[in-house]
Amino acid sequence: MLDVMADVTRTLGGAVLMDGNRLRDEIVAQLRVEVEAAGSPPVCLATVLAGDDRPSHVYVRAKHKKAEEAGMLSRGVALPGSASQAEIEDEVGALVDDPSVHGILVQLPLPEALDPEPVLALLTPEKDVDGLTERSMGRLVRGLPGHVPCTPLGVMRLLDRYGVPTSGARAVVVGRSTLVGLPLTLLLARKGVDATVTLAHSRTPDLVETCRQADLLIAAAGSARMIGPRHVQPGATVVDVGVSRTEAGIVGDVDFDAVQAIAGAITPMPGGTGPMTIACLLQNTLVAARMQNAFPA
Ligand code: NAP
Repeated sequence: MLDVMADVTRTLGGAVLMDGNRLRDEIVAQLRVEVEAAGSPPVCLATVLAGDDRPSHVYVRAKHKKAEEAGMLSRGVALPGSASQAEIEDEVGALVDDPSVHGILVQLPLPEALDPEPVLALLTPEKDVDGLTERSMGRLVRGLPGHVPCTPLGVMRLLDRYGVPTSGARAVVVGRSTLVGLPLTLLLARKGVDATVTLAHSRTPDLVETCRQADLLIAAAGSARMIGPRHVQPGATVVDVGVSRTEAGIVGDVDFDAVQAIAGAITPMPGGTGPMTIACLLQNTLVAARMQNAFPA
C-alpha cells in the first residue's frame, strides 16, 4: 500500500499523481538554501552540446536555467554539428582540467560522426555528474560512492517522496539501456531498497503478463504509449520514463488516460521523470563540488 502525503493531487481515476515538477522545484529551492547557507561559493556545471538537435538544445537550456535558480553557475560549450572528434575532446579535456568547473554534462546523443565513448572516457568520476562513464557505472555496480545516473536517480527520488514501498515489492523495468533501465534495476535491487526486479526488453515474451505481475512498473522503452491498462495490476505504481515524438506531439511509454484509472500512483508526462532528471543533475553537481573540496561537507 502506498503511504501517501496528505496534500497529493490525484488523477480523475483516483491515482496519486507523482508530480516531478513539484519535487524538482522543492529540490532546486533546497539546493539554493544550501548554497546560500554556505556563503554562496561558486559551484559550476558545464554542459557540452554538439550539433543542432532541437530537443537537446531545449534540455540544455532547461539545465542552465535551473542551475541558476539553485544558486549555481553554469557554463555552456556549444559546438557545430561539423565539429571533429578532436575538437570535442579538446573542449571536454579543458573543462576536466579547469578547477572552477565542478560538474560536466555531455549532452547525448552526439552527432553521428562523433564517437561518445572516448569523449565520456575523459571525464573524471568526480566531474561525471551524469554518472554515465564506465568508472561511475562500475562504482554503482560495486556499491562504491560516485555519481548515479540522473534519470534513474530521479525515479528513485520520486518513489521515495511519494512513499512508494519498494521493500518486498515486485518491480518490472521495461528497457535495458545503460542510460536508464540497467542502472535503475541496480538501484531498485540495492540492499535497503530491496525490490525484486525483473528487467524486460524487446525480446521478453509475454510482456503483458510480466508487467501485470508488477507492484511497481517502470517504462523506459521509448515506444509511444506501449503500456496500456492490460499491462497494469490494479493499484500498481506506474512510472513513465519514455519520451517519443509522434504526430500527436510528445508522448510517453504509458497510455496515461487509460492507465491512471487502474494505477495506484502514476507519473504524468510531461512533468514526471523529465524534471527529476534535471533536479538530480544539480544535486550531483553539488556533491561533485564537495568531492573536489569546493563546497563545505
Ligand atoms: P534505448 O537505448 O533505445 O533503450 C530502449 C530499451 O527499451 C531497449 O532495451 C529496448 O529493448 C527496449 N524496448 C524498446 N521497445 C520495446 C518494446 N516495444 N517492448 C519492450 N522493450 C522495448 O532508450 P533509452 O536511452 O533507455 O531511453 C528510453 C526512453 O527514455 C526514451 O524514450 C528516451 O527518450 C527516454 N528518456 C527519458 C529521460 C527523462 O528524463 N525522462 C531521460 C533519458 C531517456 P532491446 O534492448 O531489446 O532493444
